Amino acid sequence: MKNPFHIAVLAGDGIGREVMPEGLRAVRAAAERFGIALEFHTFDWAHCDYYAAHGQMMPDDWKQQLTGMDAIYFGAVGWPATVADHVSLWGSLLKFRREFDQYINLRPVRLFEGVPCPLAGKQPGDIDYLVVRENTEGEYTALGGVMFEGTEREIVIQESVHSRHGAERLLKYAFELARSRPRKHLSLATKSNGIAISMPWWDRQAEAMAARHPDVAWDKHHIDILTARFVLQPERFDVVAATNLFGDILSDLGPATTGTIGLAPSANLNPERRFPSLFEPVHGSAPDICGQGIANPIAMVWSGALMLDFLTRGQGAGRAAHDAILAAIETVLREGPRTADLGGAASTTEIGQAIARRIAQA
Ligand code: ATP
Ligand code: MG
Repeated sequence: MKNPFHIAVLAGDGIGREVMPEGLRAVRAAAERFGIALEFHTFDWAHCDYYAAHGQMMPDDWKQQLTGMDAIYFGAVGWPATVADHVSLWGSLLKFRREFDQYINLRPVRLFEGVPCPLAGKQPGDIDYLVVRENTEGEYTALGGVMFEGTEREIVIQESVHSRHGAERLLKYAFELARSRPRKHLSLATKSNGIAISMPWWDRQAEAMAARHPDVAWDKHHIDILTARFVLQPERFDVVAATNLFGDILSDLGPATTGTIGLAPSANLNPERRFPSLFEPVHGSAPDICGQGIANPIAMVWSGALMLDFLTRGQGAGRAAHDAILAAIETVLREGPRTADLGGAASTTEIGQAIARRIAQA
């Protein structure tokens, strides 16, 4: 195990700054409890105040400053009152994803005891799956153009790009992840009945990868019925692999079915570790509740657990630290205290302290 792991801390904007201290509190408690050496490096950029002062979200040498980091622990970025969302996002987070080749976007989706589920009749255990989204190519491109613009003959073409390399590495990661889980099941999001070239091609890539993982059962679902099944039959899913666009949709839909966005974590991974991977809550900077100390820090805490698990390759102390954080989250969600999004009145700090206490006792 590396000693120490270097972690860049970028709290970002809004409630990112409020939940980050609680994420760090939990990560520190778990690392201490299980003997993992961590060194934190705080960077005061990638937020909208930096933009106001410098006209850009990050310094020119941001990549050099982050080289040598093992992970980036990221709060939330965006302050639409001063900087347009696409500017803050493209100027920070999306640069990390692309320049650091974080081609896996991993989002666990899980219903916890003590959290009211918006789906009727679902129990904890019915919703427990992982969305694995391709994070670097696919439908998100700036390739294409407009012809006969402004006339009645106007035509818009928007290309998508799917590379063999990109599909294979995404599917390999997803199948191996499925193999590591008790149910060993993978579902592919597709649309090969309508998108006639790229999606049948994706189906074939998945078939080829499935042949190399005979111990993993798999199926494919057209994206339209897949969204319905996320709502009606979430218990069918274990690992869900998807292209960039489909994964984007599914990884918002999934967490929405589990009660509050304040719980949902995410990891942007470069599994080969050529570059740092990034761990962040799914939620944004939430200007509407910022400054009140009522944001739920659990998504940030859980993202920290994913970080420890990834750093240590899911083994030994790292897996124990991850599991202890998850167990602490489970206990606090079941027994309280709770933040306002879960019907409680506790502060961000009170939740963070309660979780850290449980971790220390683990
Ligand atoms: P993004 O810009 O990241 O796509 P957004 O800015 O539209 O997202 P969020 O900032 O995630 O959205 O906020 C959406 C809603 O969820 C807001 O009403 C916000 O208050 C609430 N919310 C987000 N995060 C939390 C949290 N950690 N705890 C409680 N409520 C939250
Ligand atoms: Mg926002």
